[in-house]
Amino acid sequence: MPHWSTLIREIPDFPKPGIVFKDITPVLAEGAAFAAAIEAMAAPWRDTPPTAFVGIESRGFIFAAALAQALGTGFVPVRKPGKLPARVLHHDYALEYGKDRLEMHADALPPGARVVLVDDVLATGGTLRAAYALARAQGAEVLGAAVLVELAALGGRARWDHAVPLHVALPG
Ligand code: AMP
Repeated sequence: MPHWSTLIREIPDFPKPGIVFKDITPVLAEGAAFAAAIEAMAAPWRDTPPTAFVGIESRGFIFAAALAQALGTGFVPVRKPGKLPARVLHHDYALEYGKDRLEMHADALPPGARVVLVDDVLATGGTLRAAYALARAQGAEVLGAAVLVELAALGGRARWDHAVPLHVALPG
């Protein structure tokens, strides 16, 4: 069984010229690799688990939901605009390839919530910072963030200026 990290493949010029897309779907397709990747992402939080993993649409959902099941916690989605049915909070941010807005249900995090933010890939870090802002806007404690892989050249980790850890399962 190859190490899960060897299953991540790079697709040049997707979704537009000049972007090298990190495709994590082959990791998901191999049961043992998927389990090992989740274990690597879960390890830093096992001793003091959050009350919920906050997953960012759409690939962040996959990892956050699996982490929630692995550690017996809740899962809360952060979604693209117009997808969540109840009242939302929103936060605007810049992406490696464009601009976007993220939303979270305004009542998603109860008082005392302690959360870990989850995505698949860390690029510029704008997406994770937006999720951080949404969680803090509800008064949640953010224990940190967890991503599978980073594009180190894009400086997302350097721009993570919060005092809580940002764990990358496969550092770039
Ligand atoms: P950023 O906000 O720049 O850190 O971008 C991270 C978000 O965009 C994550 O949700 C990633 O899934 C996605 N993303 C950005 N760049 C890439 C890339 N080169 N390959 C795969 N996903 C990417």
